[in-house]
Amino acid sequence: MPSLYMATSLADAVAALAARGPSAAPMAGATWIMRSGLRDEAHRPSYVALSQIAELSEVAVDADAVSIGACVTHARLASALADAPGGVPFDLQVLAQAAAGAANPQVRAVATVGGNLNAIGFAAADLVPALLCLDASVEIARPDGSESMKLDRFLAAREDLSPGSLVARIRVPRSAGSGRSWRSAHARLPLRVAGDYPAAIVSLAVALDEAGAIAEARVAVGAVENVARRWPELEARLTGGSPDPEAAAAAAKELRHGFTARDGVEAPGSYRLQVLPALVRRAMAALGTGR
Ligand SMILES: Cc1cc2nc3c(=O)[nH]c(=O)nc-3n(C[C@H](O)[C@H](O)[C@H](O)COP(=O)(O)OP(=O)(O)OC[C@H]3O[C@@H](n4cnc5c(N)ncnc54)[C@H](O)[C@@H]3O)c2cc1C
Repeated sequence: MPSLYMATSLADAVAALAARGPSAAPMAGATWIMRSGLRDEAHRPSYVALSQIAELSEVAVDADAVSIGACVTHARLASALADAPGGVPFDLQVLAQAAAGAANPQVRAVATVGGNLNAIGFAAADLVPALLCLDASVEIARPDGSESMKLDRFLAAREDLSPGSLVARIRVPRSAGSGRSWRSAHARLPLRVAGDYPAAIVSLAVALDEAGAIAEARVAVGAVENVARRWPELEARLTGGSPDPEAAAAAAKELRHGFTARDGVEAPGSYRLQVLPALVRRAMAALGTGR
């Protein structure tokens, strides 16, 4: 049986993880850890539970940024965004849709943002592409202090974090004061045969200029490769054009072969590539259907 330590503060969790060394791991909602056996992975000998740490469950939606504690659940994130005055702001639609649409209500009630970002080997995490297209940063707490890094860098480094390190918070910058108005949307194709995990995910954020043209585009793709990533070729193609779903889908069709799509029991890589243009079309068409 693994041992479980209930940390009472962030400092306590960091110290407990550092003292237990590399074989210990944080435990948040445990929805991924619980299923280790199904993935033929052994449990760690010890876990440090984060669920009692109040500061990790805080979420603040402000004009210049959104701050999300690592233990904020998908359900809590979706409701915090929906509770913004006037409903979910246009620029944060992608995050609200990813949080509200992932998994099922039971999983969303306990699965956390930090757990979603750290479920290594899980290619279809919905929050990862959503946060990539929002240019989010991850704050990591360590025994010797804290460090902030962009999410793409974190995804490349997460398997090598030193003992005692954990994700404390995620910061999403917003467009206040930049003079640009951002809109965003999340499109996913769930597969019943895959337990409703998405076969492919497209997260899209665009800034429109005064004439309604795309001044800047950010596109992130999840579930297609082993780890979600931005799609710079499509971003460049969309920039300067109009937010036209058909033109975006045509560009995606032409550019999709830059992905090394993974084969899985639920879907071959070729299928994931095949559905990408439709997801890009759907995301572009859904821009701005909120506030
Ligand atoms: C039936 C089912 C359907 C699902 N469908 C979807 C879906 O459609 N879309 C989707 O995105 N996800 C889906 N999931 C996956 C689910 O979202 C993840 O299991 C969940 O996000 C993990 O969060 P958790 O809090 O439960 O993490 P845990 O299981 O507690 O931890 C997961 C991993 O992250 C590490 N960890 C946790 N917190 C931290 C932290 N703060 N810092 C560093 N490391 C940390 C743990 O050590 C562990 O390695 C599904 C899961 C199930 C069971």
